[in-house]
Amino acid sequence: MAKFLEYQGKEFFKQSKIPIPEGIVANTPEEAKAAVLKLARPVVVKAQVFAGGRGKAGGVKFAETPEQAGILAREILGMNIKGLKVKQVLVEEQLDIVQEFYAGIIINSAQDVRGPVLMFSPEGGMDIESVSQDKIAIMNVDVIKGLMPYDTLNLVASMGITGKPLRQIADIVFKLFKIFQKMDCRSLEINPLVLTTDGRVLAADCRMAVDDQALFRHPELGIKIGREFLKEPTEFDLIGWSFEASDFRGTSYVAEMATPEEVAQGGYVGYHGIGGGAAMIGMDALNRVGLKIADYADTSGNPTASKVYRTTKLIMSQPGIEAYFLAGFMMANQEQWHHAHGVVKALREELPKKPAGFPVVLLLCGNKEKESQEILKEGLADLDARIEIYDREYVYDATFIAGRVKALVDEYHEKSVS
Ligand code: GDP
Ligand code: MN
Repeated sequence: MAKFLEYQGKEFFKQSKIPIPEGIVANTPEEAKAAVLKLARPVVVKAQVFAGGRGKAGGVKFAETPEQAGILAREILGMNIKGLKVKQVLVEEQLDIVQEFYAGIIINSAQDVRGPVLMFSPEGGMDIESVSQDKIAIMNVDVIKGLMPYDTLNLVASMGITGKPLRQIADIVFKLFKIFQKMDCRSLEINPLVLTTDGRVLAADCRMAVDDQALFRHPELGIKIGREFLKEPTEFDLIGWSFEASDFRGTSYVAEMATPEEVAQGGYVGYHGIGGGAAMIGMDALNRVGLKIADYADTSGNPTASKVYRTTKLIMSQPGIEAYFLAGFMMANQEQWHHAHGVVKALREELPKKPAGFPVVLLLCGNKEKESQEILKEGLADLDARIEIYDREYVYDATFIAGRVKALVDEYHEKSVS
């Protein structure tokens, strides 16, 4: 899912006229100070990371003066919250809170629902999972009929909200649904939605996630990789993603794991796993013999030969790698000849560009194994490289196979020295 930071989500609220606190994003303590001068009132400084529970983790703090805000921003900008480095803070006007509510929408994929579900609770602020069921109003939206303003009025009223706040909140939940629909969200949440002493209702927080499969409808979001990808994509990563973006048959997951400068230090392998778990096994085994992976690649889910070909070519394009390793540590029920064809075509094109004796270790087994082995052996027979090909006999032997990669890498080194 494509996740958004709190301040990014709040921009959508602003456009749809859901009230939000006045706020300014800061990248440095100095910018945080300047933000307070501009807002000219007490503020809350909030860590901007793709994680909930920032309050409990110390990522939400209150400041009365620009100096205080600067100090807090320095503290928060250095923090790690749930393994994520804080790079920005949101400096917002402090609110005088009377009550905190929860409002959220998710897609329920269960067979009998398969649609958006509206949730409202008068007990906001905390994790919605820890709120007791009788305090959460739930409504499935009929996507054919659509949502009517009276639906959200009924939903909010069912939790005992009356008077002006009832109309304010129902209006916000209605607008929230409109954003959810327009942006193809998987989830959209305001926690807390707050009522202030001066009678305003505002979204004090926002969590928003857009469906990866719908990103093509939202080029305006500028999202480069439509899947969970927690680092800044490199050129290598973007090329890898282009195989997926244009072809949904099977999967190819590709990520650059070391910079070209690191790879140039030596000991790096072009890595190609088949299936998530198997790819992990191969990677661990390589690490145990003292080798590192330049990239992480995984082709599975019955990929086409063209997808495997493009992935293999990309792996082989990395300068400085000292081997290519196809780690098929699984008895795949996908037809493995697609892998065999793709790998052979890519290696036939790429190996001539590498020095003679370049190490290649291939483990491939599963459905159509015999044919696949023949394709590999015949297809690569005449190439000037050091190629070893293994089958199902070795599917449990990660340590041995990784040892072979290591032996070939050492041999390759000796040759290039002499
Ligand atoms: P989360 O912990 O990551 O969900 O971060 P939130 O944005 O929800 O902030 C955590 C809590 O801080 C909220 O539930 C509020 O109780 C409190 N909080 C956030 N903003 C304000 C504010 O402007 N004024 C006050 N008084 N409390 C706030
Ligand atoms: Mn929150």
